Amino acid sequence: MSYVDEVYDLVVAKNPAQPEFHQAVKEVLESLRVVIEADEDAYRKEALLERLTVPERIVQFRIPWVDDKGQVQVNNGFRVQFNSAIGPYKGGLRFHPSVNLGIIKFLGFEQIFKNSLTGLPIGGGKGGSDFDPKGKSDREVMAFCQSFMTELYRHIGADTDVPAGDIGVGGREIGFLFGQYKRIRNQYEGVLTGKGLTYGGSLARTEATGYGLLYLTEEMLKCNGKDIAGKTIAVSGAGNVAIYAIQKAQQLGAKPVTCSDSTGWIYDPEGIDVALLKEVKEVKRARLSEYAAARSSAEYHEKKAGEHGVWTVKCDIALPCATQNELDLEDAKALVGNGCFAVAEGANMPTTLEATEYLQKSGVLFCPGKASNAGGVATSALEMSQNSERLSWTFEEVDSKLQQIMVNIFHNLDEASKKYGMEGDYVAGANIAGFLKVATAMKAQGIV
Ligand code: NDP
Repeated sequence: MSYVDEVYDLVVAKNPAQPEFHQAVKEVLESLRVVIEADEDAYRKEALLERLTVPERIVQFRIPWVDDKGQVQVNNGFRVQFNSAIGPYKGGLRFHPSVNLGIIKFLGFEQIFKNSLTGLPIGGGKGGSDFDPKGKSDREVMAFCQSFMTELYRHIGADTDVPAGDIGVGGREIGFLFGQYKRIRNQYEGVLTGKGLTYGGSLARTEATGYGLLYLTEEMLKCNGKDIAGKTIAVSGAGNVAIYAIQKAQQLGAKPVTCSDSTGWIYDPEGIDVALLKEVKEVKRARLSEYAAARSSAEYHEKKAGEHGVWTVKCDIALPCATQNELDLEDAKALVGNGCFAVAEGANMPTTLEATEYLQKSGVLFCPGKASNAGGVATSALEMSQNSERLSWTFEEVDSKLQQIMVNIFHNLDEASKKYGMEGDYVAGANIAGFLKVATAMKAQGIV
């Protein structure tokens, strides 16, 4: 059996009931087959793939907190410190009821390659909790965040592990987490990114993942003889990534016509009104039905099991920006049938393996999240640099660095796909380019 297959089987056997983690590993290992098989004995002897797929450290802990009725609640907390070969662990925290160890491991594993692709010195990690911030008061969210940090603080630090936001963790949560870290440690350091602008945050960090997604998409289209201006875009999600993807798409002359949340989706043929969307989701933290109620051109569709939502809308480009496995084979077929020619992932692993394969075989330009959504973590790394320097850069400075990083990422994965005989396969290109840097650093540092 080939080394790649051996390691995949081992991962499945040793990590039962973690399907998302298996899926992420499978995608990466399949892409690496060509690289590994060229030097299989050396990789096997060093157990490089086993070391790559087993986290350096996993921390799991209890988070007790008191709700507004005086009732004690208990949640599970996780931090997976996956790989520190090229820098301190870096990756977001997710607060969502679906969070479990397998989901955090899949996200942490993806993060290794994503962070490598940015060209910046950051290792891979991820964390979170099954806590649901929806419907909680600010005081309850604060109580939870303080309890979460009361355990997490011993495992993180500006040169050790630097968490950030993800689903359910935005500026409010990062503020509460930072405050508690500072209080316990009596130390003011850049231990979290995505901070507020008055206490060490970076300009353009809020916008970075969505803007970065569009910078990369624009470059991918340009290099394939296409222009983003005038194109119709289907976007899913209505959170941090989706909102700023929609905003940048409009600035580049495209027309995003959809967005979605966990309860339903919007089709707005006149183009999404970003100011209204922000008001509904960022300020009121309300459902998307409120968007439709305030805008006559918009249709609201309640989410129903078995229906395919935003992917049934005719579009040129699709940007999945909500969550994992939200775009399946049926969705991919609907997109291709409607003439969609490019898909770039804003979320982490939103497209199933079967859907990815179908899109690629149908000639759709497909960019995986670990490349196309890397702008968020890249800008987090720029926030770390500013914190170390104790300086703040202007919005334009950060935004232009972000743009350059996204253009470089696209060219790196494009070149890797060509070098290994898989031109246009940007999934393989991203995995290979991300892997090579990490593997070289791991080899140089010995058996650790
Ligand atoms: P937010 O919490 O800001 O927004 C998530 C959006 O997706 C919300 O509209 C939410 O709906 C919807 N959503 C979440 N889970 C589900 C679900 N199970 N079913 C349907 N809809 C769902 O998160 P972000 O925008 O930050 O993150 C979105 C994706 O992008 C995630 O995959 C994340 O890992 C990835 N990502 C984020 C980065 C960042 O910088 N924030 C960086 C790189 C990747 P509702 O409004 O109802 O909650």
